[in-house]
Amino acid sequence: MSAYCYTVVAEAETREIAEAFEAWLVEGHVEDVIEAGALEAEVIRRDDGLTLETRYVFPSREAFEVYEREQAPRLRAEGLARFPSGVRFTRTTGTSRFATRVDGLRVEIVPYARDNYAYLLHTFHPGARGKRPCVIVDPGEAKPVLAALVVHQLEPVAIWCTHHHPDHVAGVPELIAALGSLPVLGSQHDLDAHRIPQQSRGLHDGDELELFGHTFHAVAVPGHTLGAIAYVGEGMAFTGDTLFLGGCGRVFEGTMAMMHASLARLSALDPDTRLYVGHEYTESNLRFAAHVEPENDAVRTRLAEVHARRAVGRPSVPGTLREEHATNPFLRSHVEGVATFARARGSAPNEVEVFAQIREAKNAF
Ligand SMILES: [Zn+2]
Repeated sequence: MSAYCYTVVAEAETREIAEAFEAWLVEGHVEDVIEAGALEAEVIRRDDGLTLETRYVFPSREAFEVYEREQAPRLRAEGLARFPSGVRFTRTTGTSRFATRVDGLRVEIVPYARDNYAYLLHTFHPGARGKRPCVIVDPGEAKPVLAALVVHQLEPVAIWCTHHHPDHVAGVPELIAALGSLPVLGSQHDLDAHRIPQQSRGLHDGDELELFGHTFHAVAVPGHTLGAIAYVGEGMAFTGDTLFLGGCGRVFEGTMAMMHASLARLSALDPDTRLYVGHEYTESNLRFAAHVEPENDAVRTRLAEVHARRAVGRPSVPGTLREEHATNPFLRSHVEGVATFARARGSAPNEVEVFAQIREAKNAF
């Protein structure tokens, strides 16, 4: 697919203007552009809090040119009328790395229970009518997933489970009863232990998964549980309860060294990787991060942003690995401020021990 990516960069004079502009984009403008021919739009606020990047993916260069000619002038005029000053625009056109990264794939977020997320990973089929195929990630409950399948007109082809905990897999039997037989993937460890309902395939570290012409990998990330895996590919990672935004899962079955090594593997992915995690714990995680590193401005800024998002009911996912590198204490054992916090609580002669001290401190936070 030769999707065409178009990026608009807006620099706002103040954080307040940036927030208002972002709200205007997210609450309507990007949907208007999608109605006018784009396949997908994504609004990203850069770390400075002032710069907004809006990326639109069109099915082709021709489709973009039709949009430019026939729809863009009107939609752009609306934006300029709303923000006559305080926002400066630059535009970049052309297929970018982003276009290849999202080319053909999109993720729907399905919140359920108190703070869980399931995900529907699916394709674009520009102009196609009828249902599109998708993969369901971590259906801890069936009903919200079934409802989202109807809303987005999706037809599952498989279920991917990150680990066996019931809040990630308990919806599997009801989904299969409602939808018919589906392959259920999880780790070989969990298959051997018969602990994911109706699991049909056991994955080993590095196993490749072909999905709609895209390649994903299973990455073994033991620690939270011994069978935990992440699904990684196409600039995305589904990390279950191993890596959260701003934090990490509790170490239930593995050792601290195991969890530290698993997080290091995820941390080594491309910094632009978009993270789809198992729980909406971001705000409380960042409060803890601020406790560990009170001097870390990136933590404070991000906490304020996440708080604002959550206050209007928007999910904090997906995050990027780049943000985690700057703010997540569990990926920052090598940073002096984090090590100092750990040493104040006991012996922490190396990164694993620093990680262990931080994890213990979070358990008690
Ligand atoms: Zn879990």
